[in-house]
Order: sequence, then C-alpha cells, then structure tokens
Amino acid sequence: MPIALLSEELRSQIAAGEVVERPVSVVKELVENALDAGANHIQVRIIDAGLSLIEVSDNGEGIPSGEIELAITRHATSKLHSTKDLNEIQSLGFRGEALAAIASISRFTLKSRFHKAEEGMEIRIEAGKVQKLQATSSPPGSTIRVEDLFFNVPARKKFQKSERSERGRIYDLLVRYALARADVRFSFESEGKYRLQSSGNGDQREVLANIYDAKIAKRMLPVDSSLEQIKVSGFISPLDISKANRSAINLFVNGRWIRDVALSSAVLQGYRGMLMVGRFPLASIFVDLPADQIDVNVHPAKSEIHFQQSDMVFRAVQGAVKKAIMAHTPIQKFDPKLRWHPQEKNTTLNFETADQDVWLDASSNNLSNVGNQAPLPKSEISLFRLVGQVGQTYIVAEAPDGIYLVDQHAAHERILFEKFQSQGKQMESQILLEAVQVELNAKESEDLMSQLGLLNSIGFQVENFGPQHFVIRAIPSLLIGSDPEAALRSIVEDFEEDEQPLESQQEAKLIARICKRAAVKGGQFLSSEEQQAILSDLENCISPRTCPHGRPTMIHLSVDVLEKQFGRKGAR
Ligand code: ADP
Ligand code: MG
Repeated sequence: MPIALLSEELRSQIAAGEVVERPVSVVKELVENALDAGANHIQVRIIDAGLSLIEVSDNGEGIPSGEIELAITRHATSKLHSTKDLNEIQSLGFRGEALAAIASISRFTLKSRFHKAEEGMEIRIEAGKVQKLQATSSPPGSTIRVEDLFFNVPARKKFQKSERSERGRIYDLLVRYALARADVRFSFESEGKYRLQSSGNGDQREVLANIYDAKIAKRMLPVDSSLEQIKVSGFISPLDISKANRSAINLFVNGRWIRDVALSSAVLQGYRGMLMVGRFPLASIFVDLPADQIDVNVHPAKSEIHFQQSDMVFRAVQGAVKKAIMAHTPIQKFDPKLRWHPQEKNTTLNFETADQDVWLDASSNNLSNVGNQAPLPKSEISLFRLVGQVGQTYIVAEAPDGIYLVDQHAAHERILFEKFQSQGKQMESQILLEAVQVELNAKESEDLMSQLGLLNSIGFQVENFGPQHFVIRAIPSLLIGSDPEAALRSIVEDFEEDEQPLESQQEAKLIARICKRAAVKGGQFLSSEEQQAILSDLENCISPRTCPHGRPTMIHLSVDVLEKQFGRKGAR
C-alpha cells in the first residue's frame, strides 16, 4: 500500500485507544472533568459495567454554549494555554483529548449549562459525528451520557474483561476520588443500586468508614509530616490490620491518584520489619508539593508522573509512614516472640490464627480456641525415615535416594488440599455454636454474593441479610479452631485478586485458600507422630512436590549431590 495520511476519523479512533482502554477510563476522565469544573456534587451511574451506559452529572461551572462543540474537538482545552502552564499543571486534565476520544467511540450526549447563563446546550454525537446541537433547559452544571461504548470499535469491545471486575475497578476509582476529595459529595449507582455515597463534609475518616467498616476506619493512623516543601498526609493501617495484596495502598500527588512502584515501596519501607511477609498495609497517602517539581505529562491516562527529586519524595513518604506508626503503636507490639507459639506435649495439630491470612489479627482472642483438630492418622511403612524437625518449620527425612527437607506448612497444605478434593461434593461442615456477623464493603459484598453458592457448596454456610451484612452459620470442618470472620474475609480478599477465574478453577482456588489457613504453620512445634504423619500423608499425595499454590513442599539432596559436595565422588 502507498503511504497516505490517515482520515480524521481513523486518527481519532487510534488516539482514543490510548485514552479509553475500557469503561473505567471513561469514568476517570469524566469525573476529572467534573472536579476541574469545581463541582462539589458528582453523580456517576453505570449500566452493564459501563458498556451500555456511563452517566456523570456535576454541579460545576458548566460550558458556555458557544464552546460546546469545541469541547468535544481533539486538542481543545480550557486548562492549558502555554508551555509555561504545562510546567505547572494545577488541573487534573490538560490534554484536551478525553471528550473527543470518548465521543468517537460511543453514542455521546453532553448537556451543559454555564453557571452564568440562563439556558443550557445539548450536543449529541455518534462515532464522532455531530447528530444534534440545540439549546435546552437544564440546571447549572454538566451531564455527560456515554452509551454503547466501543460499538464502532469491535476489536476493543472483544477485549473487555468481565463485568464484575470492571465494576470493581470503577468502584475502586471512585473510592480514590472520594478519599482524595472528601469535600466533594460522590454517589455511584451501578446496575440500579447505590454502591458508594460520600457526604462531602470533608471528613476523610468518614469516607474510610464507608469503604472498609467503622471499626477499621476508627483505628487507621493519621499521617502528617513534611520534608522541606513536600507535605505528606493521609491514613495508614496499624500493624494488626493488613491485607494479602497491595491493592489498598493508594497514592495521590497533588490530588491526582497515581501508580508508582517506587512510592508504594516507600510506604512498605515505612513498615519494614513490622509486618509479616506477604502482608500489606491499607494506606491512603497524599503527597503535596509545588506543581513545578513534577511532570504529569508522561502518560496518556495521566496516572504516572515524574518527580524532579524522586529520592527526596521517597524519603518523605517513608519517614512519614514510619513516624505515624511509631507515634501510635506501643513498642511491645514489635516483639517477634509474640508470634511464636510453641506447643508443649501434644498429639494434635494446632492452628495459629495470627497468620498471613488474617485481616484483623485475631491472635489475642483466639488462642483459647486452638487444639481441637483430630490427630493425623498414624503412618504405615514409609519410604521416608523421619530424622526430626528443624527450626520448628522444616521436617528432615532420609530416604534411599538421599535427604529430604520438607516445609511443614506447604506439605500440610498439599495434604489437606487433596483430602478436601477427595471428599468430592460432600464437604464436611461444622455448625458454629454462635453465628458470626460480618459487615463488608459494597464491592466485597458484591464479590461475595456472586460466590455464595460455591462457598456454601464447600462447607461454609453463609447467608446474606440486608445490604453488606452477612452471617456465618457453619464453616468447613478443616477450619475448626480458626476465626470464622477472618477466614471469610481472607477468602473475599482472594476474590478481588482474580480477574475472572474460570468456574472450574474457582472451586480449586477457594479450597487452596482454605487449606492454607488450616495447615500447620512454620514456627510451630510438631510432635514426632505429627511429623511422621505429614511425611507419610505427603507420600500418598497425587502431587506431593508442590503446595496448591505451586511452592515446593520439599527439597531433595540426592546421594549423588552429597557425595559430590563432600568430594567423595567425581570432581566439581
Ligand atoms: P481536558 O480536560 O484535558 O481539557 P477534555 O476533552 O476532557 O480535555 O475536556 C475538554 C474541555 O471541555 C475542558 O477543557 C473543559 O473546558 C470542558 N469540559 C469538559 N467537561 C466539563 C465539565 N464536566 N464541566 C465543565 N467543563 C467541562
Ligand atoms: Mg478532561
């Protein structure tokens, strides 16, 4: 083909691809426009996770009727006029691309009334072509309706993720804005139900209570320090509230939510040595610094920025986090011995609840619960000959082909996993003496609702009563002794991490999660009967070499390797 300039239509569709990857990108751009317009009340409504409808209304200053067509033209913006402005951007938008991009790949309606005008204007566009432009009566502010997103770009539509995960992303996005702008009233309606409503009274803790629950919000630690011109504020979780992933670490720079691996690790560095491996804090950190010290013009979605003095920003964040923890946490809490619960003489396996899976550390009220699990069956003749336990974490065994080091936790996980699977659909369940009530946030409860059937088929008995409230009546027998609420929360957390696991994988994942909770932990004393039982059960497993999550259960030092290492055989 000869070289030719792209048509304007194709150009804008290609450009749109950068800005509007998926429905959540549309919501982001529209909400940012509303905030830039000075709105203090923003309503978002979606249908079919945004693919059928995204509607954003605001009470901001509106667009003058004469500029409305310009607003949806590429590279048209009211926020930037010179290179100097580009060096110190104060607004969230500045590229003048979003509305044009969105209008080129949807059926788009913009209704706006400028705050100084008597009357509003409405423009309707389909696939970038103006269909209608007329005066209209409307309240001051703007309403944008985006219908049938991607209807004319089937390639993009094909690659959309599941609706559940997209609704989750939109919820997460709005939560971030609600936190960043506690002075703005946000409401989010998804598929006809309200998912988030903030009051706009400026109280960040109230927003936190909305997102997590009141109990957690009350305990979040305030952050407030500065290093030269860099101000760091916000909230972080105390040491006993944590999560299995980084998804609750939110960073905002000059009011803009950003993705920044280095800054996230600055937050983690602030917690260094105080959280268990694999646990992550909840954090909403706001960094404010002079606008000319950052470059926001490095990413089409404006979610990445460059800092002039990134080292200093890193230190400011790390220091602020550390200071907040120190100021609010009693020192004794850090004593690592507190997590060490060697059991004396026992023939049963115990659960330790202060482990990696607990959301709210339940060790203090749960230690009385341990020890009521049936003993592991005695082994028959074994290939492995038990040598002993090392560091209360590894079991050493000898076999004809060398030495095996077995990770007791990983091995037990594998054993339970296979037992669970062999129980088939008849999962053993234990009714709780007292039902346990759990309150979840909107997104978690939506996730849980969609998995309730599965959960109940593997030994839980969880019921929904009223919005975001659940009651646990029974748990799988394997989990006897652990805190039902913590168990449920850790499972819900796991849903969040999956984009859209296949039905068939879902059950296996869930079972793996339960086994992880139920398995003996590293750092736990095991009697020699228990060590022996783990060895022989492991031998009988179908896939003994890895835990259900894929970690190795054992390391093999073959006779050959030993002989080479000791120089008994061959040259190295
Ligand atoms: P940008 O935000 O980068 O300027 P957009 O394409 O998002 O580009 O918007 C173009 C222009 O339309 C903005 O500069 C602003 O003047 C106007 N505009 C868009 N949305 C709104 C709104 N909700 N309220 C008032 N003005 C708006
Ligand atoms: Mg914009």
